[in-house]
Amino acid sequence: MVGHRASLAGNLYQATFSPRPTFTVTPRDASQPAHDVTADVLFGADGIKSITRAAMLDELAADADPTTAATAAVAVKDTQQAAYRIMIHQDQVKHDAELRALLASNQVIRWIGHKRHIIAYPVSQHTLYNLSTTQPDSNFAAATNATYTTRGSKAAMREVFADFCPLVQRLLSYVPEGDVCEWKLRVHEPLPTWVLGSVALLGDACHPTLPHLAQGAAQAVEDGAVIAVVLARLPNTEPASVHRALKAYEQVRKTRAYALVEMAAASGRALHLGDGAAKAERDKQFAALRQGQGPVPDKWADADVQREIYGFDCIQEAEERFDEYFA
Ligand SMILES: Cc1cc2nc3c(=O)[nH]c(=O)nc-3n(C[C@H](O)[C@H](O)[C@H](O)COP(=O)(O)OP(=O)(O)OC[C@H]3O[C@@H](n4cnc5c(N)ncnc54)[C@H](O)[C@@H]3O)c2cc1C
Repeated sequence: MVGHRASLAGNLYQATFSPRPTFTVTPRDASQPAHDVTADVLFGADGIKSITRAAMLDELAADADPTTAATAAVAVKDTQQAAYRIMIHQDQVKHDAELRALLASNQVIRWIGHKRHIIAYPVSQHTLYNLSTTQPDSNFAAATNATYTTRGSKAAMREVFADFCPLVQRLLSYVPEGDVCEWKLRVHEPLPTWVLGSVALLGDACHPTLPHLAQGAAQAVEDGAVIAVVLARLPNTEPASVHRALKAYEQVRKTRAYALVEMAAASGRALHLGDGAAKAERDKQFAALRQGQGPVPDKWADADVQREIYGFDCIQEAEERFDEYFA
């Protein structure tokens, strides 16, 4: 049996990790009793606030040699950044020729400023114009731990980008009142391990990624693809075999995922520079690009980075390295 997040209808707690993971499921429907589930393997795909991760780190800390810090608790880090995610429907811009053209195009546009940016592109077969922003996190101060999303105010959002160009002002003016949702952006330090016994973490539970490289969910998908390969090659479902297969998954995935986490953060730092020598240098690089020269400070658009991201076949890597890692 494979434990999947959809089956974790309520809270997951008091998990044991080996030989076979056992956890308590509390159904959302309060009339249904909580019950224990034992599985051959359990995946913690429960996001940035993962309680599977917390339970795993607690267990590691309890087992740790107190003279080493290898399993010290990994706190979620405040990035001081938040994001609006906005959709503008084609009907809302039907009288605006410039925005209609943007919606019809295959162009991705990024507008950047000090500590802020907006990236925008059409989705859903050019019927929706998708905007994702980053700005200083000032709206969550009173609710730091309670929630990572909140309904935002359109006026506050427009104020954040008030010094951006007239096209941005027009775009934001079309955002429906009441449709502004703001996300708190969080990351954490790399974990000492993604695997304990027959339990493994994936996705934001183990590698939350700033959205500046559009790779958070993409890397979670790669996790899933590699997990499928290693499980398909399991010789049996004995806990020792499951554990070794999960460690093979971790070995294929961990270095790459954390490299992209760091690259996304670095790209954000470059995009959000304020006045000074570093910004002048970055802007020189953008200018050189117009002549087709040099690296792209916006890593998401850099051809070498795109090759690294999209040219890598994680399934092939898992298939080719499985025997070596499983041994
Ligand atoms: C503004 C913004 C823009 C982004 N843009 C992109 C992008 O362009 N491209 C990209 O690839 N990524 C992007 N991301 C990142 C992407 O959203 C995440 O990386 C991705 O959602 C992670 O998937 P996940 O399944 O690991 O976690 P989540 O999507 O967080 O899913 C975890 C699930 O587990 C459930 N859960 C948690 N605890 C429990 C429990 N105890 N019991 C039952 N269920 C539980 C949650 O309800 C949730 O449904 C963006 C993120 C943000 C905030």
